Amino acid sequence: MLEIKNLHVDLEEEEKTILKGVNLTVDAGSVHAIMGPNGSGKSTLSYVLSGRDGYEVTEGSAALDGEDILEMEPEERASAGLFLAFQYPVEIPGVGNMTFLRTAVNAQRKARGEDEMSATDFLKLIRAKAKDLKIDADMLKRPVNVGFSGGEKKRNEILQMAMLEPKMCILDETDSGLDVDAMKLVSDGVNALRDAGRAFLVITHYQRLLDHIKPDVVHIMADGRIVKSGGPELAMEVEKNGYSDLLSEVA
Ligand code: ADP
Ligand code: MG
Ligand code: MG
Repeated sequence: MLEIKNLHVDLEEEEKTILKGVNLTVDAGSVHAIMGPNGSGKSTLSYVLSGRDGYEVTEGSAALDGEDILEMEPEERASAGLFLAFQYPVEIPGVGNMTFLRTAVNAQRKARGEDEMSATDFLKLIRAKAKDLKIDADMLKRPVNVGFSGGEKKRNEILQMAMLEPKMCILDETDSGLDVDAMKLVSDGVNALRDAGRAFLVITHYQRLLDHIKPDVVHIMADGRIVKSGGPELAMEVEKNGYSDLLSEVA
């Protein structure tokens, strides 16, 4: 589903290398988690995959379903099935949440040569998905993320994901700022989308999210590289001992 090879990324604005040779293969149907200390490049990886400005790929490749995505525009990557739930969801004043989602859903359908979803079908679908995530009707009418609490913003990211039904879902610290109940809602939302044709890359600091969203593979990222990969037990080890033991062992 996702194949990243030897990915090197610099900042465009200043001379700084952030990713220093990331290798990662995520198969369809699987859930991979990425953990790692602050500043190790986890968000940068998610930004570069989704096509955010400001980064320069100096070496390596990234393919979605065998297709090189690094040359695509962000919206082309989205239409190809890539989705990123932001660590810091963006507020969009003046754009209603529902309007935003309807536009996004229909843009993707159009890009795939499918018909627009009717207003009635869309409304039915979004109401059902919002209900699952305990997002009330009022939040659907308000401008995207404006005045939402931290937890509401994160749940709204999952609502977007549920509506767009992407193939490759990247969640960047979606659990941070969530209380236990919200974490359960978000995890249930993710688990409901687990499917043989879909894959997840879950970036998180905490084992507790991975209690709910059981990963197949856990990777540790440090200083712009994936330095260790293993099963769920790796997340337990991090939770118990922190990163320093593990990183000095790798070094
Ligand atoms: P993580 O998500 O693992 O905490 P990030 O990808 O956010 O790490 O950041 C990796 C490193 O790159 C950090 O040292 C961060 O300060 C730096 N960095 C990322 N983007 C920028 C930017 N636009 N300008 C300056 N430094 C940046
Ligand atoms: Mg961070
Ligand atoms: Mg980050």
